[in-house]
Amino acid sequence: MTQVVTRIAPSPTGYMHIGTARTALFNWLYARGRGGKFLLRIEDTDRARSTPEATEAILGGLEWLGLDYDGTAVSQFERAPRHIEVAQHLLASGKAYKCFATQDEIADFRQQAKAEGRSTLYQSPWRDITDPALHPDVPFVIRIKSPESGLTVIHDQVQGDVNIKNDQLDDMILLRSDGTPVYMLSVVVDDHDMGVTHVIRGDDHLNNAARQMMIYQAMEWPLPIYAHIPLIFGEDGKKLSKRHGATSVLDYALMGYPAAAMRNYLARLGWSHGDDEFFTDQDALNWFDLSGIGKSPARFDHKKLQNLSGQHIAVSDDAALLQEIQHFLTLSSEIDLHQKISTRLLPAMYCLKDRAKTFPELLEKAAFILRERPIEIEKKMEKNVNISSLDMLKTLTPQLQNVSWSRDALEALTGQVAETHGVNFGKLAGPLRAALAGQSVTPSVFDMMLILGRNEAIARLSDMQERGTP
Ligand code: GLU
Repeated sequence: MTQVVTRIAPSPTGYMHIGTARTALFNWLYARGRGGKFLLRIEDTDRARSTPEATEAILGGLEWLGLDYDGTAVSQFERAPRHIEVAQHLLASGKAYKCFATQDEIADFRQQAKAEGRSTLYQSPWRDITDPALHPDVPFVIRIKSPESGLTVIHDQVQGDVNIKNDQLDDMILLRSDGTPVYMLSVVVDDHDMGVTHVIRGDDHLNNAARQMMIYQAMEWPLPIYAHIPLIFGEDGKKLSKRHGATSVLDYALMGYPAAAMRNYLARLGWSHGDDEFFTDQDALNWFDLSGIGKSPARFDHKKLQNLSGQHIAVSDDAALLQEIQHFLTLSSEIDLHQKISTRLLPAMYCLKDRAKTFPELLEKAAFILRERPIEIEKKMEKNVNISSLDMLKTLTPQLQNVSWSRDALEALTGQVAETHGVNFGKLAGPLRAALAGQSVTPSVFDMMLILGRNEAIARLSDMQERGTP
């Protein structure tokens, strides 16, 4: 069997759209799951938009998502001479022709066709005038000779067989009068030369497939397998746009979602494998197939993304998670914290990663570790600082000197102290949390004590007693 070769062919727009990221992921999964190649081509023929920054945004998006491509990125613009060569070849072999029609002539043709109720698709009189002696010395375009009758059938792996009547396809321009190739030609030549076996892309390109097939057929090149995936909608069922929130994949990196969660979520966006929602990269590589892609548009669901993200954070390896958080902090340029956290966060990771849906949520829970004494108590925690709660801490603090520093012993001791004061443990947990963290979003008080260590925990409890009631 021939090796699978897929590609992603984004046009630079300045950022990487979620839809492009999902197309990249599908192509990557399909190729990598089959020992194939995944290639990158930047469709940079629009010179105004194709800035180095716009290309960087695509590379950055792929890098963050961990979608590695084979070889180097191909520039479509740089391959223009090859596209021209193919158009010339079609001209020489009689599959294309020079069309000398002016804009006015074409407009007149359309107007007349409309008046007569005929198809307005332009039919050039130059199609059959092959004798160069009859050709005027004026600018011309090169058009492909489209089949005049019959059907073009796109055997699409997602959409099924899509039939297009050939009389609906005009003699498409291949080279403009300034000699530049059109996009449709460039795509086909590049895909062919890059050895692409599977074209997996958004279904907004489905109509292009029929026109592109015309070029493959004229060149007698084997067709790729097509799979046109439905677009992504927002939660309101309309095409995903800025109105729905972030549409750039790197915005999700900045919001602190782990890349693995994003991959999992994007894979589920339009593709399914039974009822599986949470899965690893390896699962996705094993399972991904074109038959699992749905025919109707997927809806972007932030809740579901958050949910998956929480699950991925919870099962991540502590050291790997820390590394990803460091990367996140570099992205959001909080370098200061970045340096401090490496040593102090790792031992706490086991409880920080529990129930955090994003890295900022995890870091909020971690804030108690990074605080300096005497720690500030946030306003809404002040209700925990009163005469009776300080009294309880006064009983507890000296006993912390000698207790064994383990969860069981700390639970037993704090339980006893609460009981002595005639309250349940809940009444003591609030003041302990206020003293140890100064804020309400934290791991359990026992985890905090274990992580801070005996001396720091005692010092924080003493600080609060010294300060007294607010
Ligand atoms: N450049 C096109 C886009 O960004 C993709 C073309 C293709 O995949 O064939 O939508």
